[in-house]
Amino acid sequence: MCGIFAYTGSKNAGPLLLKGLVSLEYRGYDSAGVFMPESGVVRAKGAVAELRKKIPKNFTGRSGIAHLRWATHGEPSEKNAHPHADCGGNIYVAHNGIIENFRELKRALQSKGHTFRSDTDTEVLAHLIEEHMAHTKKFEHAVLTALHEVRGTYGLVAQCKANPDKIVAARMGSPVVLGVGTRERFVASDPSPIIPHTQKVIFLEDGEVAVIMPTSHAIVKLDATKVKRGATTIDWGAEKVKKNGHKHFMLKEIMEGPEVLENTLRGRLVLEKGRAKLGGLESVAKELKKIERFIIVACGTAYYAGLIGEYMLEEYAGIPVEVELGSEFRYRSPVLNQRTAVIAISQSGETADTLAAVREGKKRGALTLGIVNAVGSTIARETDAGVYNHAGPEMGVASTKALISQLEALVLFTLFFGRERQMSLRTGCEIAQELKTIPEKVAVILANHGKIEKLAKKYAYARDFLFIGRKYNYPVALEGAIKLKEVSYIHAEGYASGEMKHGPIAMIDKKFPTVAVVPSDSVYEKNLSNIHELKARGGPVIAIATEGNTEIAKIADDCVYVPKTIEILSPILSVVPLQLFAYYMAHQKGLNPDRPRNLAKSVTVE
Ligand code: GLU
Repeated sequence: MCGIFAYTGSKNAGPLLLKGLVSLEYRGYDSAGVFMPESGVVRAKGAVAELRKKIPKNFTGRSGIAHLRWATHGEPSEKNAHPHADCGGNIYVAHNGIIENFRELKRALQSKGHTFRSDTDTEVLAHLIEEHMAHTKKFEHAVLTALHEVRGTYGLVAQCKANPDKIVAARMGSPVVLGVGTRERFVASDPSPIIPHTQKVIFLEDGEVAVIMPTSHAIVKLDATKVKRGATTIDWGAEKVKKNGHKHFMLKEIMEGPEVLENTLRGRLVLEKGRAKLGGLESVAKELKKIERFIIVACGTAYYAGLIGEYMLEEYAGIPVEVELGSEFRYRSPVLNQRTAVIAISQSGETADTLAAVREGKKRGALTLGIVNAVGSTIARETDAGVYNHAGPEMGVASTKALISQLEALVLFTLFFGRERQMSLRTGCEIAQELKTIPEKVAVILANHGKIEKLAKKYAYARDFLFIGRKYNYPVALEGAIKLKEVSYIHAEGYASGEMKHGPIAMIDKKFPTVAVVPSDSVYEKNLSNIHELKARGGPVIAIATEGNTEIAKIADDCVYVPKTIEILSPILSVVPLQLFAYYMAHQKGLNPDRPRNLAKSVTVE
């Protein structure tokens, strides 16, 4: 969460920093700020546009640090916006994360005479550095010493007026990427604001501090030992982080579905053998043979992908699977051993709870695998092996394209493990052949977006929604509900169709619509009975059904059809109309789905 962007070089840093912040805006947007040693600091409540309004004409300089906040301590306000300063107004810090021991540090600093101007935990960093500047000439030494005293998580950048060219960056639990240009350097929370300038990046690891000048950079550990790490090249083009004519990233990313699915599959299907080739798992081939159980850990939408993965892997690979929320797994005492593999699913690869679950899994002797989209991210680096989604950067806060690519990756996992174990050549080939056709089937659904937009208009009156589904499409119902909640703020509940009669059906009346995910699969008849139960109580029903099913149109109030496919792949298709529905509902309500209230992308706090 939260976005940091910093620059040192010879260009005019002001416009460059603001532009970078805009591309990070999906990470946090309750307030923003920028500090340039040659001009001073400007902060504003709200998004970057508000900050831009306050920047004076003469705000220039060749370096600076900028921040977008997602408040954890202290309300979103101008005074709490970063960068935060020391008493003397010489040292500025922009920080992502939480300083857990800030209360005791603040008390100690106040008793030494420091005056605090914000309610944030972050501000202690600036004062601590100020305190240590009294004993050293080097800014980076003061930062390093200060970091020894803090507990918690940080991705931070700091600057002082005396050395305008220099930026000190540090990382502990929150991502920091260094961009290496020609005679210029960048620092950011993720590569998106850096790639328009350079594709050469270095990911800092936890416990590392970088001292950055326009033409040089040095990385040390907290104990001051040197770290040698070359730059890696990110192969996304800058156009990947733009909206390409769409009004919102969310719509753009839903529309990218077919291309994303092609990219996730590329080079990984062996059609004639019904197998998946996953190069990322080769290094642990020996260990994988011994695996008797999987635990999938994830949060939010990725957790629902995991639930679908459980159905896939148990049915076709015969391996017992449990799915756990990262935030629960890490705090309980799960029973793991070397025959357990923990599979972490995370778009950003930085999700704090999922990362903590990976670490917990490692500690307990499990093999750890990742299904991660962001290349070089922490989960990708810390897991023993894994596969990348290759979905390209996802900027919309509400995950859409990443989910369908996670589902596809889970099908690939299923083929990979299934064919090693119990899956026949015939079944493998059938799944592989059908998987190949999925991108074009998603394209068919997307072409029908106008119908879903109309439905959003028709149902915009509803204050509540129920989403139901069975078997592979039960987690799809959960996802439909979370998506609607997060972007349109409409109360929605996702339920297993069969569970509806144990509670939620009591809420149903003619103003309480249900979206029923009912493809023509092995549980279709059962689902149909549940739809009848809803209709008998006057509840409006929108059915997501398989093309050619005319029967359902007679029962449901509205139908959205998806192309026919095999059961295991049906979630990849049926979830797409639900993503579009959430998007258009938000649109109907005049909300910006890229900036849902209280949420931010890449949840790097616990
Ligand atoms: N904990 C800090 C604050 O509330 C940083 C939050 C963030 O990551 O944006 O200001």
